Amino acid sequence: MGDDLQTAIKRLVSAIGADRGRLVDIIRAIQERFGHVSDSAIDAISEEMGIARVEVEGVVTFYSFFTKEQTGQTVIRLTDCVAARMRGMERVADAFKQALGIDFDQTTPNGKITLRRTSCIGLCDQGPAALCNDVPITYLSSDRVKDVVTTIAASGNPRDLVKTLGEGNNAAQLIQSMVINNIRKRGAVIFDDHCRGEAIKNAAAMTPAEVIRAVKTARLRGRGGAGFPTGMKWEFTRNAPGDRHYVVCNADEGEPGTFKDRVILTEAPDLVFEGMTICGYAIGATAGIMYLRGEYAYLKPYLDDVLARRREDGLLGAQIGGRDGFSFDIEIKLGAGAYVCGEETALIRSAEGGRGEPKNRPPFPAQRGYLDQPTVVNNVETFCCAARIIEKGTPWFTRIGSQASTGTKVFSVSGDCRQPGIYELPYGLSLRQFLAAVGGEDAIAVQVGGPSGTCVSRDGFDRILCFDDLATGGSMMVFGPHRDILGIAAQFMEFFIEESCGWCTPCRVGNVLILERLEKIRAGNGQVGDVEYLTDLCQTVKKMSRCGLGQTSPNPVLTTLHNFRALYETKLVEDPAGLVPAFDLTRALREAVRAQGREPVEHSEA
Ligand code: SF4
Repeated sequence: MGDDLQTAIKRLVSAIGADRGRLVDIIRAIQERFGHVSDSAIDAISEEMGIARVEVEGVVTFYSFFTKEQTGQTVIRLTDCVAARMRGMERVADAFKQALGIDFDQTTPNGKITLRRTSCIGLCDQGPAALCNDVPITYLSSDRVKDVVTTIAASGNPRDLVKTLGEGNNAAQLIQSMVINNIRKRGAVIFDDHCRGEAIKNAAAMTPAEVIRAVKTARLRGRGGAGFPTGMKWEFTRNAPGDRHYVVCNADEGEPGTFKDRVILTEAPDLVFEGMTICGYAIGATAGIMYLRGEYAYLKPYLDDVLARRREDGLLGAQIGGRDGFSFDIEIKLGAGAYVCGEETALIRSAEGGRGEPKNRPPFPAQRGYLDQPTVVNNVETFCCAARIIEKGTPWFTRIGSQASTGTKVFSVSGDCRQPGIYELPYGLSLRQFLAAVGGEDAIAVQVGGPSGTCVSRDGFDRILCFDDLATGGSMMVFGPHRDILGIAAQFMEFFIEESCGWCTPCRVGNVLILERLEKIRAGNGQVGDVEYLTDLCQTVKKMSRCGLGQTSPNPVLTTLHNFRALYETKLVEDPAGLVPAFDLTRALREAVRAQGREPVEHSEA
C-alpha cells in the first residue's frame, strides 16, 4: 500500500473520527481524493476504524457514488430518467460519447474524465442535467457538451463550468451554482416571508406537550408522501422509552420528478432547522441529523454556515430561547447515491454508517430508530410546516387547504407543460385546476407522486390533490398526447430494478419479471393471459416486499393497467390456431441477420 494512501486514511479517520457512524463520510472522502476506494484502502479503513473488512466493503459496494474501480479526476454523471429523456437526454448522451471518445462507464485514456449515467438528480425542470463531481450542470445540449468537455479537459476543475449563477441563494458565496429555483407560485406557508427565530421563541414559551398538541390540532400530516399525522408521530416518540431521543430530517428526495426540497433548502433553510429544533424540544431530543442526498452535496457548505449562524444567535445549542432544558444541535450527513435511502429505516442505517438496507417494521423508528433509540423522521417540508404552525398558530394554518388536508403542498412540476418548476399551492385543487396553473391543459396523463405514485388519465383529472384522494410527496410529471405511456411505465420499472437493494426476492426478481412481461406486451407478443399474469405478479410484489420501494414498485404497471387499459388491450394478439406467440422468431433473428448480412435459409420438407 502506498504511504500516501495509508497516511491519508490515518489523517482522515483522525479528523473525521473513528466512530462507526462516520464510515460513509470517510469512504466518501477517500473516493473524492483518490477517485476510487481500492482493496488496500478498504483494508486500511478497516484497520484504522476497527471495523470488519467485510462491513467496510459492504458499504463501498452499496452506494452508487463509491467504486472500487479507478475513475477519472472528474466524473460526469448524466441524469437518465423519464423527465430527462423527455428533454432530449439521449442526444446529450450521444454528444458526450462522441466528444470524449468513450462509452458510459468508461474513462478517457488520459485518466481525466469518467462518464456515467445516474438516476434523477433533482433538476428535472432544467435538464438534461449532469453532476460534474459535485457541481450541477443544467440545460445541457449537444453544443454545450463540447464546451463542458473542453473546459474540464483544460482546467480539470468543474467549477469553471459555472459561468452564470442561478437566482436567489443559488448565487450565495457558499453555493455559487447555475441551478435555478424556478419558483412559479409562492404559498403562505413555505415560501412566504418568515420571522427567523419567532417559532423558537414561541415554542420556548410553551411546554413540550403544548407544542405537540398544537401540531396535532393543526392536523399536520407528513409531506413525504405517506401522510402520517405528524403530532401523533412526535407524541409516540416522546413517550417511547430510550436513553436518548433523536430528530432526523429526511432531505434525501430521490423520487424521480421531485426537486422541491432542493429549493426549500436553498431558500428557506432556517425554517427547516427551526422545525427540527422545535421537534427536538417537543420529543425531548438534544440531537438532530439532516440526511442530505449526495446529489445535493453542493448545498452542504451553505447549510453548515446557516447552522453556524444559528449557534451564534442562540437558536441552537444550550438553553435555546433562554429556557432550561431546551438544548439542541444539528449535524448534516451526506448520502451517496442510493434511492432506497429515502425509506426511513434505510436512511437511518445509512446515517449510522452502514449499507442503506431497510429494516423490518415494527419496531418503527418512533420506538427504535437511530442507534436503536426513539427517533422522529420527517421530511424537509413537514418540519417547515411545523415551524410555521408554532410561529403563526394553528387557526392560521388550518384555514389553508381543506378540512382533512390542511396547509399547502409544494409541487415539483416537470414534463409537457409550459411552466415547469416549483408551485406551492393549497391542498384541495383538482388535477384539472393544477394543469391549468402549470400550462399543461393538453396532458393525456399526469404521474402523481413519481414512479411509485399513480399515473392518472384524463378521466381522473377531476380528482383532488389531497391526502384522501391523490396524495403525493410532490413529484408531478405531465405527459402530452405524443407520449408513449407504456414506454414510460417500462422506464419506471427499469428504475426500480436498478434501485432495489436486492434483499428480498419479490422485489429483486419480481420487478424484473414484471418488466419482461410488460415488454412482451409492448412488442406485440402479449395475450390476455399476460395481463392477468402481470396483475397477479404486481400484487404479489406489493404484498410480499419488505419495504416501501418494493411495495410501490409495481405501481407504474398497476396504475396504467387501471387507467390506460385500452393501451394494453390494443397490443394483445390472439393466434387463430390457439398457439401462444411468446416467441417471435423473425424479431429474434433480426439482429443476427443484420450482423451476418444474410437471410436465414428456408428449410423445405423432403
Ligand atoms: Fe430491498 Fe426491495 Fe426488499 Fe425494499 S423491497 S428491502 S428495496 S429488495
